Amino acid sequence: MLRVRFAPSPTGFLHIGGARTALFNWVYARKNKGEFILRIEDTDQNRSKPEYLTEISESLKWLKIDWDQIYYQSKRFDIYRDYAQKLIGKGSAYKKDEAIFFKYNFSQIEVNDLIRGKVTFNELPKDEEVIIKKDGTPGYNFSCCIDDALMEISCVIRGEDHLSNTPKQILIYRALDFKIPDFAHLPLILSPDGGRLSKRFGATAISEYKKQGYLPESLANYFLLLGWSPGQDREILSLSETKELFKLKDVNKTGAAFSLDKLNWMNAYYIRNKNIDQLTKEIQSFLVNQKHPFANIEYGRLKEVVVLFQTRLTTLSEFPDKANFFFSQDVEYLPEASSVLENKLSQEMETLKDKLSQINGFRKDLIEEKFRKTAKDLDLKVGILVHPTRVALTGRRKGPGLFETMEVLGKEKVLQRLDKLIKYWEEK
Ligand code: GLU
Repeated sequence: MLRVRFAPSPTGFLHIGGARTALFNWVYARKNKGEFILRIEDTDQNRSKPEYLTEISESLKWLKIDWDQIYYQSKRFDIYRDYAQKLIGKGSAYKKDEAIFFKYNFSQIEVNDLIRGKVTFNELPKDEEVIIKKDGTPGYNFSCCIDDALMEISCVIRGEDHLSNTPKQILIYRALDFKIPDFAHLPLILSPDGGRLSKRFGATAISEYKKQGYLPESLANYFLLLGWSPGQDREILSLSETKELFKLKDVNKTGAAFSLDKLNWMNAYYIRNKNIDQLTKEIQSFLVNQKHPFANIEYGRLKEVVVLFQTRLTTLSEFPDKANFFFSQDVEYLPEASSVLENKLSQEMETLKDKLSQINGFRKDLIEEKFRKTAKDLDLKVGILVHPTRVALTGRRKGPGLFETMEVLGKEKVLQRLDKLIKYWEEK
């Protein structure tokens, strides 16, 4: 059976690179009806922290990456020590200063990488490798090999930064007569200028993307395109479609540039295309996680407002700020609106307020009809009345359609806020 693994060290949060490695492994396993193993490489007891482990597993679950088995290397130290003893017995390892070293004679090694093709290693910097450290914990290359062999991993899919470890690992496989798995090294993820990822560009924990209001499906979709493409310029792909289309041989060798603009575009796309109830629930749980006061807004009310913003959000986190005027008692005029307020139309607003107050059943079609008729009677272009009305109701120059906004705000708030603008003008 095909078996792959994702092997994070809980010495930091899950970042894009790790999440992408996990996704590629997961998709490959699911496509081939194989098994996906999560192996926690917590051998460094000082740097491994439970909070990182929690963040990593929560983030994987959030991205909908499920695993068939989980192993913790910290519970397997006896196994590594046994294998180190075996190597000593074979004359391939020796003890020095309390640590155990694996000693090898290196000659050229060729790795037939499933992504990169043939990679040849002509030399290694040293001729020995610490496999068990003084404190009894295993070195990465050693525990990684032992586990990949015992867990019967058929293909090791990981980031290109581990390519240079591969020849050392092959030497350990050979020394223990283990079957050597296939290897597939994923291209590096680069910043838009071709350099390393930085805090500004992409090097953000997955939990932080969640906090910033990205959807798991858009992140997963975007990460999968970092180094892989299904062809035909297709970009929007669900995990289940990816499962059908994914082939390791289609993964690129060259570095994949991270683009926040592209990710934002994709997130907006997924928000726009989400079922409205799902989106409302997503926003509601986002608000709850943020301990935002709007988390207590009644579901039906929240949904009415979410409908108006669905096509206007890049991330969920924009929602509370963009929509706050619906939930606040009062409205504040933002500086961007000041030029609109310069043109005093107190008399006209008074008339509009009066006409709107006559509507029974404050629905957008009735509101629009009354609004247009009032403008006509006042001999004003509709636009002249639209701008100050929008500012009166929302405090801003831009927002969802004015008549929908009025319907959702409700008659009472609309009249109150028009009144407030009239008073504001009178006091000026
Ligand atoms: N614990 C290693 C890491 O996080 C795993 C490398 C591997 O996949 O072999 O980089």
